[in-house]
Amino acid sequence: MSQYANTLGKILEVSSFLEKEKSFFDFLKVPEKTIHVNFPVKLDNGQTIYLNGFRVIHSRKRGPSKGGVRFSECVNMEEVKLLALLMTLKCSLLELPYGGGKGGVVINTRNLSENEIEGVTRGFVRGIFDDIGPQKDIPAPDMYTNSKTMDIATDEYQKLSGSKTYATFTGKSIENKGLEGRTESTAFGGYVCARNYFKDLKGLKVNLQGLGNAGGIIGKYLVDAGAKIICASDSKGSIYNENGLDFEEILKLKKSGRSVALYNQEHETLDNDDFLEKNCDLLVLAANDNVINSSNHKKVKGKVILELANGPINFDSEDFQEMKGKVVIPDILANSGGVVASYLEWKDNLEDKKSSKDQTLEYLDKQISKVFTEVKKTSESLNISLRKAAYIQSLKNLI
Ligand code: NAD
Repeated sequence: MSQYANTLGKILEVSSFLEKEKSFFDFLKVPEKTIHVNFPVKLDNGQTIYLNGFRVIHSRKRGPSKGGVRFSECVNMEEVKLLALLMTLKCSLLELPYGGGKGGVVINTRNLSENEIEGVTRGFVRGIFDDIGPQKDIPAPDMYTNSKTMDIATDEYQKLSGSKTYATFTGKSIENKGLEGRTESTAFGGYVCARNYFKDLKGLKVNLQGLGNAGGIIGKYLVDAGAKIICASDSKGSIYNENGLDFEEILKLKKSGRSVALYNQEHETLDNDDFLEKNCDLLVLAANDNVINSSNHKKVKGKVILELANGPINFDSEDFQEMKGKVVIPDILANSGGVVASYLEWKDNLEDKKSSKDQTLEYLDKQISKVFTEVKKTSESLNISLRKAAYIQSLKNLI
């Protein structure tokens, strides 16, 4: 069975809690549209290469499709289809007027110049041009794409369409009609979930995996609210101090391009595998997918796990006995801040407005808190996991 079918099967297990027949959700089984483009890019040495790119419009039941574009040599149509399905569910859960989409170009940008990456971006936009637009499909950044990519994509779209709209892409730079607070939005949304769950974060012991855009920023929000980061980890290693680490110092170290493993000899250093075995009140996973899986789920110690990364807990692991006593705040909700902020950026662009950072964060707080409360209520009343409750909520909004 494909990963897509397997994932959808798991999601649809909750349809027994809904008034609709399972077959009502058949529209989720196959994406509305899959686009495969092959386009030329001229390299700096004059050579022309041809790249494969994908865009999947999974569903537009709630509105234009929304989802990121990744540049990665590993990306393939199956992966993009699965991610687009999950975007349909995430947008629906957060009550956004969007369906789900996702895209990717098969390329390792590390070996390309700025000029060549610009060529990749423009070539991909030309390839998918007929299917994108403010009311059709609205791409955003994802792995190895960023605000600069979205600025270039917007420029190419404007040239091709002759329109002045900025609402075809979100995640643009502030100077190019991007949104104040977009950078913080994913981490802020995760923090809002943690605050809603625990109510009081003072003295809460947190283990934090990943110190990039998502992890570094949520760490700061948690510490500002009184929590203690006792264990922090990046790709090179982990450090631990049960009395709490100086998070400002860690961020300074990361800014200077160094690993937390080099932080301070007074702290215990750990291998990344040992990181999961340290007791804590909250484990925040903000690095990779498939971090907790059948090889290690028995050792995981956090009482509550917040999935800021996409898919950090292997789908089957959550069902294991050892994991059952734990509360998992699922990715579909925990990292939804980015797409909620994208919605504000798109709306601002359509209405020619500019939300302030405070307005952005206030909106995120209100919307994510509301959905979190509903999901928690469903989970308690039906005695099911927050993930299952989130799927119920999401499917309900698709009826
Ligand atoms: P990033 O590249 O900025 O940071 C990733 C961090 O993870 C780095 O600190 C890296 O050192 C660390 N890391 C990598 N491998 C590790 C390992 N084996 N053990 C411990 N740490 C490791 O990425 P990001 O933007 O912070 O995204 C992190 C995750 O959050 C990804 O799964 C991403 O899909 C998800 N996410 C991010 C956003 C966003 O807006 N940034 C939105 C939704 C989901």
